[in-house]
Amino acid sequence: MNNHYQLLIIGAGPAGLAAAATASAHGISCALLDEQSTPGGQIYRSIESASQLRAEKLGSEYMRGKQLATAFRESDADYFPDTKVWSVNDQREVGVLHQDKSRIITADQILLASGAMERPVPFSGWTLPGVMQAGAGQILFKSAGVVPSDGVVLAGSGPLLLLLAWQYMQLGVDVKALLDVTPLSNHLLALPKLPRALLAHHYLTKGLVYQRDLYRAGISTKLGVSQLKAEGDENLKSVSYRHFGREHRIETDLLLTHFGVIPHIWLSQSAGCKHLWDSSQQCWRPQHDEWGNTSIKGILVAGDGAGINGARSAEHAGHLAGLQVLFALGVLTQEERDKQSVKDRKWMEDDRHIRPFLESYFAIPQSMLATKDNDNIVCRCEEITAGEIREAVKSGHGGSNDVKYMTRCGMGPCQGRQCANAVAHIVADAGDQAISVESHFRGRPPVTPLSLQQLASLRQEQVQ
Ligand SMILES: Cc1cc2nc3c(=O)[nH]c(=O)nc-3n(C[C@H](O)[C@H](O)[C@H](O)COP(=O)(O)OP(=O)(O)OC[C@H]3O[C@@H](n4cnc5c(N)ncnc54)[C@H](O)[C@@H]3O)c2cc1C
Repeated sequence: MNNHYQLLIIGAGPAGLAAAATASAHGISCALLDEQSTPGGQIYRSIESASQLRAEKLGSEYMRGKQLATAFRESDADYFPDTKVWSVNDQREVGVLHQDKSRIITADQILLASGAMERPVPFSGWTLPGVMQAGAGQILFKSAGVVPSDGVVLAGSGPLLLLLAWQYMQLGVDVKALLDVTPLSNHLLALPKLPRALLAHHYLTKGLVYQRDLYRAGISTKLGVSQLKAEGDENLKSVSYRHFGREHRIETDLLLTHFGVIPHIWLSQSAGCKHLWDSSQQCWRPQHDEWGNTSIKGILVAGDGAGINGARSAEHAGHLAGLQVLFALGVLTQEERDKQSVKDRKWMEDDRHIRPFLESYFAIPQSMLATKDNDNIVCRCEEITAGEIREAVKSGHGGSNDVKYMTRCGMGPCQGRQCANAVAHIVADAGDQAISVESHFRGRPPVTPLSLQQLASLRQEQVQ
């Protein structure tokens, strides 16, 4: 690994892979870092090693990652897998953990393509062993071919939940129920956005096919579920919920939940980029222009980390960011950059047609985002409940950061990644105020856990 690159990319998902292949084709020095062991990011995880059978079961979308990974491997970009980035600053200095040693590398241009994470939503019993996020179930299958052997209950909302139910059905997993917490009123609220969504009808068709296949396979889908609870003493024993006014209970030792995805903003926040609260996606995202330029010169964002738009858009945004970097470095003229961006913009427009409909249709109910159940643990690391957070607001601590200092929520090893969003919702609800950009916990490097020994391995001259 060199100490300096013209372009440093963080994240080997569709956005990062496309950017690396684009930029390095013009001879600039480019490195791509990712904490995973192989390229592909979330959607194309283990794409290079997946057997034909496993890839088929994951669906045709998954196979698309092969082309991307191959184009990247054939490029001249340096690739550093198993490498964590723990800080980025506005001087474009990047803290990296590689082969268990820390170092600082610099770059003329940095592209943050760190993707998305599943939105953590605290509900009763969500910290019980046996309750995991749906993405974890999918990761187990993509990377190790492992599926639940004794059946599973899926609960939550969003296209990814439907996709996982369909993938499990293909694999013969016993899906005991699919509990959809999307309020039925969302269907009406999303209706005005349907005409525009029809312009990207292939996405709608895909969703309808999944639903039809699940129905034919006899998988019970309950719409409009409320009061979701995971129950058990030491481990999950059952899941209870309310459906059309009646209480139900399903015995299970595995519940996989999903409540949509939110941008991974920890690196853009560490760099000091300006962010905004996106009220339709109910999350923060870095401000950026149509090329991915953030508020800090030489730092760009692309893909789901810049705002949730899906894998196809991530790939095109990566290509656009690659072109912009080449322009910024004087390799391409503005005219050349613009000319090469036309197709990407068309594709991205297609994806933008479907988003407003999806965001309305799958919006998570406020009652779950800002839980009123005071016993629910919100910060898993420090075991801080919703009641303690509401109490802190009542006693005059109006913002998330004040509540953090008062209660220690967000101060554990995950640095608030698992609770920042929920805390902001609860604080806003308790204080009867809107969520703003200040509602996010202030980030401090390292953004991922780093031992003192790893930090101390920074060479002395690099620290000064
Ligand atoms: C768990 C999960 C599963 C998903 N599965 C699907 C799916 O099956 N189908 C679908 O259409 N969409 C899926 N999505 C949505 C999907 O992530 C995208 O739309 C798409 O992958 C976004 O591409 P990207 O390049 O922006 O980021 P990603 O593909 O998420 O890639 C980001 C990469 O950045 C790396 N990274 C992040 N932070 C750091 C750091 N600090 N240091 C080093 N590396 C870092 C990650 O390891 C990751 O490889 C999933 C999302 C999640 C969270």
